[in-house]
Amino acid sequence: MAVCEAHEGTAEESEPLRSDANLAGPMADPVPGPRTESGDVSRETPPPMDVSSGYEGDPSAPVGRAAQQAVEAMTRAGEGLPRPEQTRVMVVANQKGGVGKTTTTVNLAASLALHGARVLVIDLDPQGNASTALGVDHHSEVPSIYDVLVDSKPLSDVVQPVPDIEGLFCAPATIDLAGAEIELVSLVARESRLQRAISAYEQPLDYVLIDCPPSLGLLTVNALVAGAEVVIPIQCEYYALEGLGQLLRNVELVRGHLNPDLHVSTIILTMYDGRTRLASQVADEVRTHFGKEVLRTNIPRSVRISEAPSYGQTVLTYDPGSSGSLSYLEAAREIALRDPHAQQNQSAQQHGMPEGTQ
Ligand code: ATP
Ligand code: MG
Repeated sequence: MAVCEAHEGTAEESEPLRSDANLAGPMADPVPGPRTESGDVSRETPPPMDVSSGYEGDPSAPVGRAAQQAVEAMTRAGEGLPRPEQTRVMVVANQKGGVGKTTTTVNLAASLALHGARVLVIDLDPQGNASTALGVDHHSEVPSIYDVLVDSKPLSDVVQPVPDIEGLFCAPATIDLAGAEIELVSLVARESRLQRAISAYEQPLDYVLIDCPPSLGLLTVNALVAGAEVVIPIQCEYYALEGLGQLLRNVELVRGHLNPDLHVSTIILTMYDGRTRLASQVADEVRTHFGKEVLRTNIPRSVRISEAPSYGQTVLTYDPGSSGSLSYLEAAREIALRDPHAQQNQSAQQHGMPEGTQ
């Protein structure tokens, strides 16, 4: 796909670093966006469109509509994405910290929703980064995924719509979730509480994306029991594959004992910087190891992607035409076209078997 190819190796060309963006170093305020008096991140002042990215939509359009225009520009007339045949529950996991789990969860979810799907993001990390990035309220009084896991509250009582993106919803995490790993230990069916909550959720959904914390504790185990597909973001850096064996062993254990459907469906390479030989070496190594699970679309290292959460936005609404936004849209498209249920039914039909007998 043209967009994918355009991104590989050209991150610096398609998205030159802006001098103002470079001022915020790693020690700067982690939420540098403008804030309201209450301390919340303001959602009102997205930056001007990055004209270098080639996006020529109406800059005064509301952010949701601008994102929609970007999707339409990418999608040839009449060529929509298929909706999955059943709800696809995808667990975004890697116990290594800071590899792009949350960024990938929220931006893939937004991309799928902009493509017309109904998507629920479950924030399963006490840091609450996915809730922040989606602009969803998650202060300590807000009903959250903690109440679902520990107090058996219905999921529908905590789900909030995501502002600006139709069809996207979020079950937020509050700081309470930090205690859940310990509180869950003594509860009945401690590994399958999330799975039960999702099964009981009555609203129709195409995708559920679960953002895991950087650990392999009970929260991540709950996610692995609840989902069928594991999505592993891998940062294109040295040590990228270290610790991955442990995650894969856990996936095998959960598959063997608790969830026979579980499998690694998707590997996504994040923070890819085509200027460095290291990034392409890591990408090659990951592709050699995993083969077809690796998405063809690499997510480039992009200032726009890292800035977006400070405005309570995904990159799709923050700068719809940026390379980061287009690459997540393209990754979402690849994922939508790899529906495991559709593939299963197709091969059943090819072999003359009726649907559902596999
Ligand atoms: P944790 O393990 O703490 O939950 P994580 O795996 O969820 O971390 P993120 O929070 O998504 O990782 O990303 C880590 C940092 O890298 C964030 O500051 C994020 O903005 C930044 N980041 C993620 N992807 C990109 C990208 N493609 N380009 C630039 N910065 C990125
Ligand atoms: Mg995270």
